[in-house]
Formats: sequence, C-alpha cells, structure tokens
Amino acid sequence: MFITKKLPQRKCIALIAHDHKKEDMVQWSVHNKQMLAKHELYATGTTGKLVEEALDRPVKKFLSGPLGGDQQIGSLIATGDIDMVIFFWDPMEAQPHDTDVKALLRLCAVWNIPMACDRSTADFIITSPFMSDDYEAIIPDYSGYLKRNIAAE
Ligand code: PGA
Repeated sequence: MFITKKLPQRKCIALIAHDHKKEDMVQWSVHNKQMLAKHELYATGTTGKLVEEALDRPVKKFLSGPLGGDQQIGSLIATGDIDMVIFFWDPMEAQPHDTDVKALLRLCAVWNIPMACDRSTADFIITSPFMSDDYEAIIPDYSGYLKRNIAAE
C-alpha cells in the first residue's frame, strides 16, 4: 500500500557537505545557481554559511552537522518539510557523527526522498524535469505498521 505526496514546483532542498567535500558543494551550488534560485535552501550550519556567501542569497541554516544539524534536517524529512537532500559525505574519513549520517540516509529511504551523495547524482537530480514541475512522490503507507499488534508479537 502506498500514499502519494505532491512535491510543489518550489522545492525545499537540504544541502550538507562534510569538510573535505565543502569545496565540491560550493562549486556545485554556484554552477547550479540559476536552478537553485527557484527553490528554498536549507543546510547544516557551516555548509549553509559557505553556500549563502557563494550564492549571495539566504539559506535556512541549522546547527553544524556534528552538533545536531543532521538530525534537525532529519526531523524535517520526517514531517515532510524537506523534499530532497544533496549530501556530499566523505567516504574516506570516519566522522564523529557517523550515526547521524546513517540516520539521515535511512530517513530518506523511509520517506522516499531523493538524495544525492555525490556530484554526478546531484547533477542528474538538478537537471530533472521534475525540478521545475510538481511531482507526485509515492510513499509507503505506514498505517499498517502503526496499527501492528504488539501484544501478539
Ligand atoms: P556542517 O555539517 O555543514 O556544519 O559542517 C556538515 C556535517 O554534517 O558534517
């Protein structure tokens, strides 16, 4: 069973980049400035500050990732307030907040949120026709899970 959720033309995009990927994120944002201008931008603290400066436009910034920013974005995914995530995470370095990183990957899968973990995927997402149009996302219907019979298990 599935339910659908309409993503509007103006989408809420979360940007996160680990330290060795921040330059990538800034370059990618500048390269896609025109398309990003049509959407709302959210970001973890340091990533948001860099993108805001590079694009000269406001970005809704949360706490720095390791201080809870990833989880703040996760909570907005859970409430349906983030439509997609561009998350350039560093595959070559362990992070103090690895568990938060994993949690974010999981929540994107739970809610069928498009997520790019590298520039190529981000390029494919940002050039998709769905970026300039409404999009009907299919989300699993979790009502059966919520009504499960705990006593019988
Ligand atoms: P930052 O956080 O943008 O505040 O550096 C990113 C992260 O999750 O490491």
